[in-house]
Amino acid sequence: MPKAPVIGIPSERVRHAQVGIKDQNTVSRGYTDAICSRGGIPLILPVVDDPAHLSDVIQGLDGLLVPGSDDIPPACYGAAPHPAEKPMPDVQYDTWAALIRLAVDRGLPTLVICGGLQAMNVALGGTLIQDIPSQVGTAVCHRSGTHVDATHEVDILPGSRVAEVLGPGRRTVNSAHHQAVDRLGAGLSVTARCPVDDIVEALELSEHPFCLAVQWHPERYFDGDSSDRLFRAFLAACDTISR
Ligand code: MN
Repeated sequence: MPKAPVIGIPSERVRHAQVGIKDQNTVSRGYTDAICSRGGIPLILPVVDDPAHLSDVIQGLDGLLVPGSDDIPPACYGAAPHPAEKPMPDVQYDTWAALIRLAVDRGLPTLVICGGLQAMNVALGGTLIQDIPSQVGTAVCHRSGTHVDATHEVDILPGSRVAEVLGPGRRTVNSAHHQAVDRLGAGLSVTARCPVDDIVEALELSEHPFCLAVQWHPERYFDGDSSDRLFRAFLAACDTISR
């Protein structure tokens, strides 16, 4: 029987006061459920102080799913802090960046979502718009500030990987980000943009078996059919690697 693909999911470092102090590596359920429900095995990867063993960790995976998270520490792309930022801990970014670079180098199938897209862009040498409302404008709401996601349209570039999966042209996506890609990281190309303000909404890495990044949140099952197609295309690529 073919083995189910094992999908690594980098976790967030979260510290909060509850009964005592909780200091945790966490992954939102939407990501693990999205993999489990389609026949994959999610493997939660902790934030580590020493990235030396991550190369061995990557070797044991059939795919990497990089989730959303807080903002990227601005010093990682040479920017000064912005008042609207809520950066993730440096150690979390360092773990994620190491995993992303290894997955890129090894050709490991990789699906990247929201904050993960920004982490990938910076890990590959790119920079970010630190706060869309104050630096680009408010013509489009990319983050509602409530528990209900904003929605807006995106234009998907014909001939891209994301167009292969979802079809080219205009569609509506959910949106819960206030940062965005500015200068592109090495090897990345833009495959979807918001038509009103030109914000980057999808990236891919050419010369890679499957490396697709979306700025929206398919794991929240916003549009069941397109979310399902994205996760299935990713798992199919992982399945090919695992045989
Ligand atoms: Mn958006």
